[in-house]
Amino acid sequence: MNAALQPSATRTTAEWQAADTAHYLHPFTDFKSLASKGSRVITRADNIYLWDSEGAKILDAMSGLWCVNVGYGQQDLIDAATAQLKQLPFYNSFFQTATPPAIELAELLAEVTPPQFNHVFFSGSGSEGNDTVVRMVRRYWDVLGQPERSVIISRTNAYHGSTMAGASLGGMSYMHAQGGLPIPGIVHMEQPFWFAHGHGKSRDEFGLEAARWLEAKILEVGAEKVAAFIGEPIQGAGGVIVPPATYWPEIQRICDQYGILLVSDEVICGFGRTGQWWGCETMGFRPDLMTFAKGVTSGYIPLGGVMVGDRIARVMIDQGGEFEHGYTYSGHPVACAVALANIRLIQREGLVDKVRTDTGPYLAEHFKALAEHPLIGEAQSIGLMGALQIVKDKTSGTCFDGALEVGMICRGHCFANGLIMRAVGDRMIIAPPLVITRAQIDDMAALIRRCLDATLRDLQQRGLV
Ligand SMILES: *Cc1c(COP(=O)(O)O)cnc(C)c1O
Repeated sequence: MNAALQPSATRTTAEWQAADTAHYLHPFTDFKSLASKGSRVITRADNIYLWDSEGAKILDAMSGLWCVNVGYGQQDLIDAATAQLKQLPFYNSFFQTATPPAIELAELLAEVTPPQFNHVFFSGSGSEGNDTVVRMVRRYWDVLGQPERSVIISRTNAYHGSTMAGASLGGMSYMHAQGGLPIPGIVHMEQPFWFAHGHGKSRDEFGLEAARWLEAKILEVGAEKVAAFIGEPIQGAGGVIVPPATYWPEIQRICDQYGILLVSDEVICGFGRTGQWWGCETMGFRPDLMTFAKGVTSGYIPLGGVMVGDRIARVMIDQGGEFEHGYTYSGHPVACAVALANIRLIQREGLVDKVRTDTGPYLAEHFKALAEHPLIGEAQSIGLMGALQIVKDKTSGTCFDGALEVGMICRGHCFANGLIMRAVGDRMIIAPPLVITRAQIDDMAALIRRCLDATLRDLQQRGLV
């Protein structure tokens, strides 16, 4: 094998870990605690598998960080990047200029998004995309002569990124606690989490009730002050929380009734994750803006952006004058070239249909069986994202004391067994690459079961169950 493909050969794991600890501050990490154990160093990948610096093979049931939708090692994406790096590695689009990959990607995105979307504003990431959403939503109402409409309503436990605006839109209280967030004009309402909040109600009944919290919030803020509502069609980082089917149509109705903009953060749900191109199509609503990132390039290179619906685009174009916003890397030609190759591959391989009609339902069958496991209180999946809620008592649905960090115990067993599954509290979540096959889903489900069994034995030994 080419030596360049084996950087691990140049240093031992201990040497990598020492250099990492000495210089590298990781995102969302307790630096001191990581330094005491050392990072796991990932050195290469292929298809749905990773290898670490010790040579261990790992099934990546999280697609990196929800992004490597076409799997690792796709030659088309590699070739697209290489060719574009040679042709034109960078030019900006500030100076009334554009590059062919950015133009073509804008055109292709208009084709694969719902009909109301014909324009795109590019960013470098999902967080930046949501910063653009805040700027654009407020600008839109300014241009229409309603500058008092500036409040954006979001939800607790939402994840919209980690910049000042992204973290403010997000509903993670531990993030707000660091840095004086949220910024002014962003308010939150409760999430549509049936397992936690819907006790004694049917899912459909609870879905309507949870959507109507939006109306209550609009009236509390003052309808004339509300600019927009933002939500992930299915909350991802919050724990793969699939709302009841009644939720989003009711949210749509309320937004329409009060004339407020509806923003879908599709950073995880977009590009086929839920079995349709967009989460809003699966959940049944019609947003005015859609944020995307992650799956647009399958994570091979950073790119994000916002799809701008005709309602907003017409106002911004016809009446808005100069929009004082943008990023150096908006429409980066190499990132756009990779995105083009990625989307064309998704189309050519029919990956979205495959998730909807084949692998998504197949995963759901396995999840139905996993729901019978003594530790699992709720198993939910939609397309190729899923969550397993660990509970202390299956019959009553009682959860473990959060301080026990049972999710982290389970994650430890996953790591030890060559599986990457993420823990959000005691909710174990997966979002495997969309190229995963039925046979690989069988392997993944068997690994998940083995890890749940190991977790159960571990908890029994500690006397916790
Ligand atoms: C990951 C994520 C973001 C942030 O994207 P970054 O590229 O990390 O900035 C925003 N919204 C959702 C729904 C996400 O999952």
